[in-house]
Amino acid sequence: MGLIIRSSAIHAAGCYTTTDIRKGQRVAEYTGHQLGKAEADAAYEESPITYLFGLGDGTVVIDGHCAAMFINHSCDANCETSEVDGRVWVTAVKHIAAGDELTYDYCLYDGGDDEARCNCGAARCRGTMYSREEVKRRKAVAKEAALKALKKTAKKKRGKRKAAKHASEWPVHGSLHTS
Ligand SMILES: [Zn+2]
Repeated sequence: MGLIIRSSAIHAAGCYTTTDIRKGQRVAEYTGHQLGKAEADAAYEESPITYLFGLGDGTVVIDGHCAAMFINHSCDANCETSEVDGRVWVTAVKHIAAGDELTYDYCLYDGGDDEARCNCGAARCRGTMYSREEVKRRKAVAKEAALKALKKTAKKKRGKRKAAKHASEWPVHGSLHTS
């Protein structure tokens, strides 16, 4: 099996196989220096591109330095990643023909303001590289924020109305003869 890195239609550089890969075959290991989450956040705060892979509960990340770090995301990927005893393997989930680009689903989380738009081109592209759970979580957070903003405006409006009434020293036309 041979992996090569060349430019990709999905994003920048991609990882391609020069030989056929059978389903279930391990194609690469995601290796690199291991960092604490806080350490990685500080190191890459200003960087638009990172090759960080979260291990376990995400407190430790691998700072990619390997062929696998060039594997692009796809919503209809031909590989998946799995963590075995602290090592991350990329495994084919379907037959991959020689010349094909390798992909796996990034299932991103913890991206802050980054939309992490997806350009994978798959028919069922979900439009973002965030995981389904993360998309749900972000939607819930956005809804909560929108609701809070709405409540704030409603309160403000109520406050204004009251203030206006209070400020008016003259009777408002019509309002005194309704009973
Ligand atoms: Zn996609």
